[in-house]
Amino acid sequence: MGKTLCSYNPATGEPLGEVAVTPTGDINNMVARAGEAAKSWRELGIEGRVELIKKAWAGLESSMDDLAALLSREMGKDIRRSGGEVSGTVYGGEYLAREAANALQTRPAGGDTRVEYRPLGVAAVISPWNYPLAMANNLIVPALTAGNTVVFKPSEETPLVARAYVECLNRVLPENVLQIVYGDAAQGRALVESRVNIIAFTGSRAVGKEIMGRAAGGLKRLVMELGGNDPMIVMEDAHLEAAARFAVAASFENAGQMCTSTERIYVDKRIADAFERRVAEIAGQYRVGPWDMPGVNIGPIVNERQHRRVVEHIRDAEEKGARILLGGSEQKAPYVTPTVICDMTDDMLMEQEETFGPVVAMRRFGDLDEAVRMANNSSYGLGASVYGGKGAGAVADRLEAGMVGINQGPGGGGNAPWVGAKESGYGFHGTADGHRLFAQVRVVSGRAS
Ligand code: NAD
Repeated sequence: MGKTLCSYNPATGEPLGEVAVTPTGDINNMVARAGEAAKSWRELGIEGRVELIKKAWAGLESSMDDLAALLSREMGKDIRRSGGEVSGTVYGGEYLAREAANALQTRPAGGDTRVEYRPLGVAAVISPWNYPLAMANNLIVPALTAGNTVVFKPSEETPLVARAYVECLNRVLPENVLQIVYGDAAQGRALVESRVNIIAFTGSRAVGKEIMGRAAGGLKRLVMELGGNDPMIVMEDAHLEAAARFAVAASFENAGQMCTSTERIYVDKRIADAFERRVAEIAGQYRVGPWDMPGVNIGPIVNERQHRRVVEHIRDAEEKGARILLGGSEQKAPYVTPTVICDMTDDMLMEQEETFGPVVAMRRFGDLDEAVRMANNSSYGLGASVYGGKGAGAVADRLEAGMVGINQGPGGGGNAPWVGAKESGYGFHGTADGHRLFAQVRVVSGRAS
């Protein structure tokens, strides 16, 4: 990577701006400065930190519209969704800080023993492009609240929105409490190998595995929110219309570029004809185009590499005998038109890997044992959903995923952590259990005489 990193509008290819790439040789110094800053940040105490975080995040409020427009231009999602992501980021700041502060209070543990939650030191936060603010924020706020300082490396696809976010927060946060590293894998690697104490990562499984390997030397703490290949099971007694609407919406959200996007749908063969027909009808109503064109609900794919990957998955399915009800592999970048595929088989890329595009991929099952076997036949385990009548709960019980939705999508309430199973996660975030991963647990027993 050169000395500057240019950011492009994925819809038009127009350059939007650039940032200076952080030389990898500077990263150790940045981490050292973060280590120094951690001393006074820790001394503020948790209430002092929460007050500053509250003030810093409130400062984002006046920039919400600009941030949303920049997010749409840089990443390609429509302005309504960008607005939702930005407001969740701004208001989530205070919410997460309060939730973390409650979770990290010293608590009695019987007799003369107490449990404390101390800062770990410096946290590396490495984030993806698909929700460039929300994913970063969900890790940065708990890390800061716990008393760590943060060195943040956003995705190379979305440096401008990350810069705007950090610059605004840094009008309030003390120097070097939150620093930003611009670059790609090279900067990510240098950060992982620096003297950070915890690495909080959201991104692909492949990169997660690499980070885990590199972190092993220092036994660095890890929080890993990785990719998924979420299955959906549609039972014979499912509400067909609700299931079909969910199947399409959950496959097409954010142009399919979502970690809990529905990627594989298993439908009871007794209702499959009607279900597939209805899915194709609903999918056919979606419109692709740039984020600012009225009526558009599928934006561009973020970059050419990702576009090639989606097309490769569709072509692979076509070559292996899938029935294509809508769309197909003839796609012109940066868009992928709504695509509906039936008769997936075990050997298809789509069945095995995350496609991350606006594709509904279906397959029929004969009985529920077969459906569960196919749904669980993946090394991923982020989300899963099942649509059906009374038996849906029992099917949900058998699904190997961190988050399971019954007649709805996975990962519901605000009081539940965001968590993956199998190769989709290692640690998790949100709620007391998640926030405590950003702290050193310390057990103190006895009393001074
Ligand atoms: P990615 O793994 O390619 O990149 C993520 C970040 O890691 C980027 O900042 C990138 O520059 C950095 N990076 C790349 N190589 C690195 C290395 N060797 N060492 C350190 N850092 C490195 O992922 P992406 O394409 O940006 O995002 C899409 C992926 O993220 C999908 O797999 C998606 O499912 C996943 N995701 C998961 C969640 C979740 O909550 N589980 C949420 C959003 C996205």
